[in-house]
Formats: sequence, structure tokens, C-alpha cells
Amino acid sequence: MTLRIAEIFGPTVQGEGILIGEPTVFVRAGGCDYRCAWCDSLHAVDSAYRDTWVPMTPEAIMAEVRRLSGGQPLTVSISGGNPAIQDFAPVIAIGQEEGYRFALETQGSIAQDWFAGLDTLVLSPKPPSSGHRTDWLKFDRCLAAAERAGQTVMKIVIFDKTDLAYARAAHDRHPQLPLFLQPGNPEVDPQSPVDLDQTTARLRWLIDETVGKGWLTPRILPQLHVLIWGNQRGV
Ligand code: SF4
Repeated sequence: MTLRIAEIFGPTVQGEGILIGEPTVFVRAGGCDYRCAWCDSLHAVDSAYRDTWVPMTPEAIMAEVRRLSGGQPLTVSISGGNPAIQDFAPVIAIGQEEGYRFALETQGSIAQDWFAGLDTLVLSPKPPSSGHRTDWLKFDRCLAAAERAGQTVMKIVIFDKTDLAYARAAHDRHPQLPLFLQPGNPEVDPQSPVDLDQTTARLRWLIDETVGKGWLTPRILPQLHVLIWGNQRGV
């Protein structure tokens, strides 16, 4: 069997959510069932890039992870696209045998039995600004599939007050899930520099609108890699 892989890179640091700052190798799967208005990974989503996605066996994926990490077991971050479209169970099985840990991020639209073997599942439902509507039944199926996973958390990107209201409602549905919020990044062109003043202003706004207004539950984080590398790919 092979999986469609858009890119494998690292080691770098995880730039978002509960594993922020953790050394990791990224495995980015090609293909997504969503098309968010502000997607920053179109090269792993848009079928125009399909020719650049490489079919790789689980053994070949882990061989590349091993090469990049110098054989040192670390956290492998599986992202996309939506990696839940494909079967990553054999990759996880081979890697965990060697001491690698696996984190996977998905919007929660497709549940897979193999979520149970993950060390970290990041469910990142997309708020209204994405142009998508969350199917919470499907999200709940993902949650149930990950019941035996190491940890499951929720991360939501916030662009405006409507997204914030959505995040509050999502938290009310699933108060048991640690919640991470990050300001959305509208500057997704990898060729254009990121305006750091605007980036920090969006972070300040999000802190004002949450902590500043007495909502103390979520953790508010920047996208660390955007602060360091802008929208550059493969870092
Ligand atoms: Fe892009 Fe993620 Fe939305 Fe898919 S779910 S289109 S990868 S932002």
C-alpha cells in the first residue's frame, strides 16, 4: 500500500497547540475533504498540486523520518491536508516500535480506528470564517475513536468575533478537551513576507477578547513558525 505524501521535513519545532516548541518531523499528507477560505497548506489540498504528491509506502515514510531525525526517536507530526483520509496505521506501528511518538491534526470530519494508537490527536474544527460547517456527529466519532489515544485536544483558529462565539460553543460541547486558540493568519502566500506588527496585533486582540473579557479556559498561542519563518514552507 502507498500513501499520498505532499512533503516530509524537519526536524523543526512544532509551531502550534499543545506541542508548541517540541522538536518534530512533519509528514504532510496530500488531499483534503475541506477547502478552507484561508488554508495555508494549499499545496497539500488543491488537486492542481496532485502531481507533486509522492506515493510512499509506510516503510519509505519511516525511512525518511529516520534519515531526517538521525535515527533519534522524536514526535512525528502528521498533518495535511486531512491525513485522516488515508490509513496511517502502518506508519504509526513501525515508528512506535522504534520509540517514535505520533501526533496527528485533523478537522474531525473523518474518524479512523487507528486514532486509538496516537500519542496526541489534535482536533481542529474549522470556524465559520473557513466557509465550512462543522458536522459535530462526525467530530464526536473522531473523539470516540481516539478514546484510547494518549491525549486529545482541540485547537481552533480565530479570525473574528463570529469564530470566537463558535469556539465558545465548541468548548461548551466538549468542556473536557483542553482548548487552544490561535489568531488566524490571512497572509498565506509563501512568497510574501509576513507583517509581524499585524501578527502580534491579532494575538493581542485575541487575548483581549478572551482573557481580557474573563474567558480564562483556553490557552492563547501564536503560530510560532510564522513568527520565526513567516509563511516559508518546509521549516
Ligand atoms: Fe486547509 Fe486544513 Fe482546511 Fe484542509 S482542513 S483546507 S488543510 S485548513
